Amino acid sequence: MIVVMKKGASAQDISSVVGRVELDGYKASLTEGEERTIIGLVGESPTPLREDNYSSMSGVERVMRVSVPYKLTSREYHPMDTHVALNGSQAGANKVLVIAGPCSVESREQTIEIACAVKEAGATALRGGAFKPRTSPYSFQGHGETGLKWLAEARERTGLPIVTEVMDPGLVGMVAEYADVLQVGARNMQNFVLLSEVGRSQHTVLLKRGMANTMEDLLMSAEYILAQGNQRVMLCERGIRTFEKYTRNTFDINAIPVLKARTHLPVIADPSHAVGYSEHVTSIALAAVAAGADGLIVEVHPTPERALSDGRQSLNYDGFKQMMQRIQLVAQAVGRSA
Ligand code: PEP
Ligand code: MN
Repeated sequence: MIVVMKKGASAQDISSVVGRVELDGYKASLTEGEERTIIGLVGESPTPLREDNYSSMSGVERVMRVSVPYKLTSREYHPMDTHVALNGSQAGANKVLVIAGPCSVESREQTIEIACAVKEAGATALRGGAFKPRTSPYSFQGHGETGLKWLAEARERTGLPIVTEVMDPGLVGMVAEYADVLQVGARNMQNFVLLSEVGRSQHTVLLKRGMANTMEDLLMSAEYILAQGNQRVMLCERGIRTFEKYTRNTFDINAIPVLKARTHLPVIADPSHAVGYSEHVTSIALAAVAAGADGLIVEVHPTPERALSDGRQSLNYDGFKQMMQRIQLVAQAVGRSA
C-alpha cells in the first residue's frame, strides 16, 4: 500500500503517518518528490491494512494498493522516471548513456588504453571485469583486486566512472571502494544475499537479467536492492536463452518498453552478450536505442581475437566509433540524444 501525502503536508503529518505504519508492523519507505511525499508500506505484518485508517489522517491525499509483488520498483508506486547519476549525466533522462570497455581487464596498460579510446569515442563510463563468472573453472577468472586497481587508475586518467562486477557478498565492501557502479551479473541475479548486500552498500547498481529469468523475476530482484533503501539501480537486458543456435543469446527487445512501463528505473541494453557476435552488435544496439533503452553496455577490445574472455562479441576501436556515430542518428530519430 502507498500513502500519497498532499502537496504541502507538514512534517508532523508525515511523521504521524510513519508512526501509524510502524504501529501496524510495516516499514515506511519515504519518497520525497518535488511536490509531495509518498510513503510506501513495506514488509509483512499480521495486522491487516485498512485504507481508511490512513486516508482519514491529516495531510493524506489518497491511499493506493500496489497490485504487483514488486512494490518500490513499480511505476504504480513511483510514477516518475528515476534518474541515476553517471558521470554528470542521468541514466533515465533524455540522453542515451554508453558504458564501454573490455569483458575482463587484462593488464594495467591495456585498461588505461581502452579507457582513453572509449572516452575519445564518447563513452560515459568504463566497464571491465576483475572478478569473472566463468562457466568453466579452468577459464580465466579475472585479476581480482589488482584488476580493480587498474580500473581505478584508468578512472584517474580519464575521469570515466567504473562499472565492474561483484559476485561475492563478502566482497561488496572491497569492490565498492574501487567501483562507481556495482554490476550484478546474469548468473547472480537471484543471489538474494548479494542483492541485499549491494542494496545496503547504497552504491549504484547495474542489475543484469538472468538468462532464464522472466521480467518479473528481474523486478523482484531489484526489489531486494530497493528494500534496503537503495534506489540507485539500473536494470539490464542482456539476452535470454532460447533454442536459437546462431546467436549466443536471444535479445529480448520486448523487455525494453515493457520494463520501462512497469518500473521507474532506467533500463540499459547489453547488445554484446545478447547477440554474441561483434558483426551484429551495432544492429542490436540501434534496435535497443529505438526501443527506448536509457543506455548501452558494450564490450570493446583493441584486439578482440586475443581477448581473454568474450573476444568474439567485442568491438574493436573502429567498430565502437562507428557504433557511437550510428546510435546518435537513431537517438535523434526517437527524440533522444546520445
Ligand atoms: C559481463 O558483463 O561480462 C558478463 C559476465 O555479463 P552477464 O552477467 O550478462 O553474462
Ligand atoms: Mn563478457
